[in-house]
Amino acid sequence: MLTGRMMDFPLTLTHFLERARSYYAAQEIVSRKPDKSLHRYTYADFHKRVCQLANALTRLGVKPGDRVASLSWNHHQHLEVYFGVPAMGAVMHTLNLRLHPNDLGYIARHAEDTVIVVDRSLLPLVEKFEKAAGSLKHVIVIPDDGPVPEGRLDYEQLLAAESPTFEFPRLDENSAAMLCYTSGTTGNPKGVLFSHRSIVLHTLVCCLPEVLGLKESDTVLAVVPMFHAAAWGLPFDALLTGAKQVLPGPHLDPQSLLELMQNEKVTVAGGVPTIWLGILAQLDREPGKWDLGRMRHMVIGGSAAPPALIDGFRKRHGQNVLHAWGMTEMNPVGTLARLKGDLHTASPETQLDAYASQGYSVPFVETRHVSDTGEILPWDGKAMGELEVRGPMVAASYYGDEGKDRFTKDGWFKTGDVVTIDPAGYLHITDRSKDVIKSGGEWISSVALENALMAHPSVLEAAVFAGRHPKWDERPLAAVVFKPGQEATKAELTAHLEKQFAKWWLPDDILFVTQIPRTSTGKFLKMKLREDYGDHLMKASVAS
Ligand code: ADP
Repeated sequence: MLTGRMMDFPLTLTHFLERARSYYAAQEIVSRKPDKSLHRYTYADFHKRVCQLANALTRLGVKPGDRVASLSWNHHQHLEVYFGVPAMGAVMHTLNLRLHPNDLGYIARHAEDTVIVVDRSLLPLVEKFEKAAGSLKHVIVIPDDGPVPEGRLDYEQLLAAESPTFEFPRLDENSAAMLCYTSGTTGNPKGVLFSHRSIVLHTLVCCLPEVLGLKESDTVLAVVPMFHAAAWGLPFDALLTGAKQVLPGPHLDPQSLLELMQNEKVTVAGGVPTIWLGILAQLDREPGKWDLGRMRHMVIGGSAAPPALIDGFRKRHGQNVLHAWGMTEMNPVGTLARLKGDLHTASPETQLDAYASQGYSVPFVETRHVSDTGEILPWDGKAMGELEVRGPMVAASYYGDEGKDRFTKDGWFKTGDVVTIDPAGYLHITDRSKDVIKSGGEWISSVALENALMAHPSVLEAAVFAGRHPKWDERPLAAVVFKPGQEATKAELTAHLEKQFAKWWLPDDILFVTQIPRTSTGKFLKMKLREDYGDHLMKASVAS
């Protein structure tokens, strides 16, 4: 082999920090505090504080490879920990503040966290699991909503005592930078250990024009929590390109977000469908109240974005929605629904189909889908199978011993998502494998039914799940939440579905509920629906 003669320069996050300081020193980071006031500073200030943090952690004994946890909302101090910890060679571990203390204790113990940085407002939560966590040596408290209690380390005082320069070590690009746990929608949370290299590659890919296309003139709002799949990499994308960052703190209600988007002139924002459903409903209630004229695209992912949501934003508010699919195991962005080829000139209906699909792979994510019997399926838009992915930004194993069965012998990761892929490569997720409804041996897509129900004018949210059935094993059941002040009968909703689906796909019953149970990251918790209503049809059949 004739080897290339290029420098062996590691792909690490340290470069991001140095670049931000050298070229984008005056760029702003704005974050919202619990009292709703805004904290503003520049990338130059940020860089100094990251150095102070690295000095402070070194003084506390943090060594390369040690896990430093965070339990925080999205704000500037969290961002400092995001960069300071990996740049000094330690591992940033984001804990999900919506989890139960027992789960947090399990995860912190599993990760062997030695330090935790926590918002003062969330300290009572840490107090419930710090013993169970096992190896915690230090709890550092960010005074977000008031003074730090006696006997606890104060984040601000620690930083104030340190020098604003730090000699960041030259790291191996394959060393671990970040540890994220899956949200456990389908079982125990599993740890995914990102390397510096995978984060750098993911950032480069996400900044491409055909992906998120970030640039220095952008203002990026990560509504998606920094504790959920690294906020989809948005903080990294923004730092590398020198974009302005806006962080919403704990204020995630539609009004607060709209105000922030307008006042800070946000151009790119990312969040899960629940967030955008709330924002769309608010915009519909008060059209024209907020000026979102600078917005280039709203990125939606984490669970399927209903076409009615995408269409509503486009048609009624002139907003461009970018639907993305990904997984914690992939850093996390995997595919994105951008138009390509003939689709640029296709009819609005065909374009909406493409926008509402999960899109096609970003560079360096390879996909295939496989049948129950292991056969690799054609990209014909019809054959349904489990999606498998591979590439340099895909986990090669979990942290610890779990989930070995998710990795195939020939080097692919089994996503657990059931998809079709069309000839142009666009993915349509029809279900998670655990949520597929198997009626008399045939598969029914819960996502397709949900999307159709959510297109009904009275429906705010709908989740479709499997109910046990004496004859067909499973039949679809729907749980529906109406928009405030609106209603529809079961017969009306069924008639609405009948226009699109074969009779045997129609839900056997529709339950009207006040809310749909959710996971800690805002996804429909179908496991809970199955627990609560899974026997509904059995009972009905006994009664009849
Ligand atoms: P968890 O697996 O615990 O939910 P993740 O947040 O990593 O944690 O979730 C990844 C999963 O979320 C994917 O496997 C998929 O089922 C779902 N998902 C993510 N984005 C989308 C999307 N745009 N459409 C449909 N499902 C999605």
